[in-house]
Amino acid sequence: SANRNLFAILARNFPRDPGAPLLESADGSIRSYAEILDLSARIGRALRAAGATPGERVMVQVEKTPEALALYLAALRIGAIYLPLNTGYRRDEVEYFLADAAPKVVVVTPGSPLADESLMKDHGARMLTLDAEGRGSLMDAASRQPAELEDFVCDDDTIAAILYTSGTTGKPKGAMLSHGNLSSNAAALHEIWRFDPRDRLLHALPIFHTHGLFVALNTTLMNGTSMIFLPRFDAAEIVRLLPRATVMMGVPTFYTRLLATPEFTRDCCRQIRLFISGSAPLTVETFNAFKERTGHTILERYGMTEANMVSSNPYLRDRVAGSVGFPLPGVSLRIADDQGRALKPGEVGGIEVKGPNIFHGYWRNPEKTKSEFRADGFFITGDVGRIDERGYVHIVGRSKDLIISGGFNVYPKEVETVIDALPGVAESAVIGVPHADFGEAVVAVVVARPQAALAERQIAEATREHLATYKAPKAVFLVKELPRNTMGKVEKAKLRETYKATFAQAAAVR
Ligand code: ATP
Ligand code: MG
Repeated sequence: SANRNLFAILARNFPRDPGAPLLESADGSIRSYAEILDLSARIGRALRAAGATPGERVMVQVEKTPEALALYLAALRIGAIYLPLNTGYRRDEVEYFLADAAPKVVVVTPGSPLADESLMKDHGARMLTLDAEGRGSLMDAASRQPAELEDFVCDDDTIAAILYTSGTTGKPKGAMLSHGNLSSNAAALHEIWRFDPRDRLLHALPIFHTHGLFVALNTTLMNGTSMIFLPRFDAAEIVRLLPRATVMMGVPTFYTRLLATPEFTRDCCRQIRLFISGSAPLTVETFNAFKERTGHTILERYGMTEANMVSSNPYLRDRVAGSVGFPLPGVSLRIADDQGRALKPGEVGGIEVKGPNIFHGYWRNPEKTKSEFRADGFFITGDVGRIDERGYVHIVGRSKDLIISGGFNVYPKEVETVIDALPGVAESAVIGVPHADFGEAVVAVVVARPQAALAERQIAEATREHLATYKAPKAVFLVKELPRNTMGKVEKAKLRETYKATFAQAAAVR
């Protein structure tokens, strides 16, 4: 039977012309498909020689360069388990992951916290450096290898990667993803987003997270498309490069930052056929402001480390603001009560998902895996949502962020939507903090627009006009900015920690 290795499946659609471009850097230099594939074969052989046999973890903490892309492909090709770490993780964090994942081979960009020989000694790992010469250089070792490789033959259930979740609600969990999980998603995205070899994706996302790694790279490779590959998001750079691209993928903060850039105009976007947003909620305000400025409706999608991409607004039909669209082809999504029983259309409940995209469990944590699945195989995402009468999925929040105040359920997003629509408000985060009478009290943390004269009391009063008393914030705090992680997610756990004491003090004064 045919090889189900993700690389082999992607390779079926690589351009016939070996000179076809794959990567373009900000300075305009180009790397062809052939160059990157050659490099991936050499790196694959060098990794294998260093001990990365099939099933072994290859842990990487590397900057986003063309070599890093070749490294990802190399790991797939030799059947090793690719395990990328956030480049922002510090020493204590990487040490936790090293102990948890126990990789045989580690690849680093010199200077990253994982690039530490004493850590390697403690954990019995072999370290190689990417993009560097001299001792331990993976590129030196690769240059001595022939540029041909027989790709590892495997089935759909063979594990291809372990990705740690973002740690928004607790300690990051290692999600085991198989070749079949990733290839089924790549095929579904090929079907719905209509990528083709003439497209050029503006890629400014990090490649250690499911969004920039699997959604962006696999979709590109599955279609023989090219990318403008940027090490990080920079609004001025994006404005300059947009005329050379046809598709942009981003997190909501990319779009809000572009809107805050005066040079970002309708003119920059003439060549673009699709703007995509995911990883965190896109507000209706941003969706509308973007449409007004550029004429484009951003296509919002939804996914997570454990389930890859789950749903997307349609490419051709209406893209609905505040919705994450329809489940992908082959993916079943239901809204359920806490027993896993499906609810009626319009009702709010837990989002549960099943399909070939769903991961194979948490690394070395079978109890946690078991507790997140229903008996009928549905995965409990931890997100709360509803499905409207047209079948569009709406995310209402995370079950861990749900506030129960005086016995009533308060969904922070409903309150945030009201606050965000007030004049002078840039954005808000609503959280629950401990309260003696109510169990939890609703607290709003608000960022004002530049120059807006907003008072905390005024915001509290305005929300009371639109919301039932139990939903309206008991306290409002104005701040300069909300704490966010690398994927632009608001860190609500951090806010709850900060404001539980502040709220108690403020309440005592009152
Ligand atoms: P952890 O599981 O460690 O707490 P995390 O859930 O933030 O962290 P990820 O897997 O990176 O880790 O993120 C997936 C989550 O991001 C989803 O479960 C959902 O809550 C949120 N998300 C993704 N896309 C969207 C979207 N379009 N709108 C709203 N939320 C989204
Ligand atoms: Mg999660």
